[in-house]
Amino acid sequence: MFEAMAQGLVSPIVELLARWDSKTFWLYFACSALMAAYIISRRSPAPSIRGTLSFLFPRAIYAHPSAINDYKIWILNNLLNAAVLLPYAAMLTQATSLAVEHALGALVGQASLNWHAGWVSRVLFTAVELLVIDAGFFFAHYLQHRVPLLWQFHKTHHSAEVLMPITVFRMHPVDLMLHTSLVCVLAGGMIGIFSFLYAGPVTAFAVNGFNICLFAFYVAGIHLRHAHVWVMYPRWIAKHISSPALHLIHHSSDPKHADKNMAQIFNFWDRMFGTLYLPTEQEGIRFGLWNDEHLQFRSLGALYGRPFLDALALLRPKRGPAVAARPEESVRRS
Ligand SMILES: [Zn+2]
Ligand SMILES: [Zn+2]
Repeated sequence: MFEAMAQGLVSPIVELLARWDSKTFWLYFACSALMAAYIISRRSPAPSIRGTLSFLFPRAIYAHPSAINDYKIWILNNLLNAAVLLPYAAMLTQATSLAVEHALGALVGQASLNWHAGWVSRVLFTAVELLVIDAGFFFAHYLQHRVPLLWQFHKTHHSAEVLMPITVFRMHPVDLMLHTSLVCVLAGGMIGIFSFLYAGPVTAFAVNGFNICLFAFYVAGIHLRHAHVWVMYPRWIAKHISSPALHLIHHSSDPKHADKNMAQIFNFWDRMFGTLYLPTEQEGIRFGLWNDEHLQFRSLGALYGRPFLDALALLRPKRGPAVAARPEESVRRS
């Protein structure tokens, strides 16, 4: 237990300095900051270093009470990750992989097809791994928005009143558990299929152990998805790959943006489920929950505890205070 806690406290530093597969690896922060600095350089003919820095790190956002809560949740969730989520993820992925491999072996009557693993299998693995991780993210996110009980826990993330890179970790543990479970089951299933098909392990083309496609996505401004800067990729890319600005819209408290842009990487998930919102120009966005419900999520206790109370009120409506309606529910009722 103490070992896990110590690991949880040290892991943010390790991830910042050396973990290429972590969103908090220094390179991804640096790339996002460079992209934002480029944007200000285009707006201002002669930007000063001081002006650029105050544009990149405005005190009004980085010292906002909502951001302070993000830092605290980040630390607490790191402890939870080390103690529970990471061992759970490893166990679930391995168990699913073995179950799928054995099931396929029993179905076909031989343990493996023993295909030769070469560069084709690596290309295939790289692409499928990217798709599987993105699918896991999208479907967990879709359920978090569409299932009222799960939405109560996802409100913690959407209650952020300002967005900055650490807001990505403003997640309720129930949200994290759902997301981790779905991604691990899908990834484990994929590994099981590849283990059954090929003789020897197949791995993705990678940059320091991290899938090269995911690496490219992280480098292309992953931290601008939670930021005060509006970044849309060129139109021909933006149609297919989720630009950082689409996630700003996802955090909007305007009912017209509710439940839009749930994808992380590929927009075709949102297109398939009718939830894609591609703006033609920059929009003014007020972050938070619809109808100012975020005002009830301003303390650490509320961010972790209120979702349980709201979930209980939803399950036993006569016992507790009414849970705030979602935009589309209120439209249906009016
Ligand atoms: Zn969401
Ligand atoms: Zn977000």
